[in-house]
Amino acid sequence: MTTWTKYLENCNLCPRACGVNRLAGQAGFCGAVGAQAEVAKTMIHHWEEPCISGTDPDRGSGTVFFAHCTLRCVYCQNQAISGRVLDTSKAPNVGKMDVRTLAQAFLDLQQQGAHNINLVTPTHYLPMIVPAVSLARQQGLCLPIVYNTGGYETKEAVRLLSGTVDIYLCDIKYWTAQTAKAYSLAPNYTDTAWDALDAMVQQVGPCVFGEDGMLLRGVVVRHLVLPGRGYAARKILHRLFQRYGNDIVYSIMNQYTPLANNPGIQAFPELLAPLPQAEYEEVADFAAGLGLEHAYVQEGEAISESFIPLW
Ligand code: SF4
Repeated sequence: MTTWTKYLENCNLCPRACGVNRLAGQAGFCGAVGAQAEVAKTMIHHWEEPCISGTDPDRGSGTVFFAHCTLRCVYCQNQAISGRVLDTSKAPNVGKMDVRTLAQAFLDLQQQGAHNINLVTPTHYLPMIVPAVSLARQQGLCLPIVYNTGGYETKEAVRLLSGTVDIYLCDIKYWTAQTAKAYSLAPNYTDTAWDALDAMVQQVGPCVFGEDGMLLRGVVVRHLVLPGRGYAARKILHRLFQRYGNDIVYSIMNQYTPLANNPGIQAFPELLAPLPQAEYEEVADFAAGLGLEHAYVQEGEAISESFIPLW
């Protein structure tokens, strides 16, 4: 842990570059303080993409949901655990974990049959995660590590994860800086996310699948299609394919849920309605026309449980 504490004393772990001393109790934009990671929940997750969760009902992705977030998306689906000031009445299981406890949590998930360790919204706890993975590996962890991120990353953070992460499960959320600023208070999202994604693809290389179809190494890029943003979705997919071709897995998500009680969302009437099915289908058709080899779309009533391979 000692070599990693410097990243908490002058925190520039994400593009916010707050420069705060979290060990001294100073909170930056994300609100994380102290030397321990705050974990909202650990669970075997069955509803990630099939190459991450698998299809065996007795197995799944060994998921660790971290509290706090470096983004502030007005449509956030996890407000109870991502907010700067956590409402513990809504997230009563948020617990502090030191490196040793975190390593044990990974091993417990492996024991429960997890296909991988899936770290959700992890970057503000990177200095705890890297040594915890190292310790867990010394103690028998042999699963791929999935870094499940909103894409708001620095190239330096990606560099620090070299040798720790096997799979990046990374959002590309926005096409324009204006939308990123309006919806996530992150006007530099687009520049930083594309640069970070380049670094991720370069670091782990083209996707490698096991004989059972599970992803062992590589990058999955997710894009949640937002209401009225079908054009942006098509631009993003086109750019992704131009840059990475079929080296990555594409996940085109249709599970946008309007949450009218989220702080700030009322300023964006377009986000208060579901995504029109026709708008999603237009994006999915466009993706099919690109010639993607590894892609998922979502269909059906229980959309969060319905990733359908596009190929
Ligand atoms: S991780 Fe948190 S404190 Fe550190 S730079 Fe990002 S928002 Fe600021």
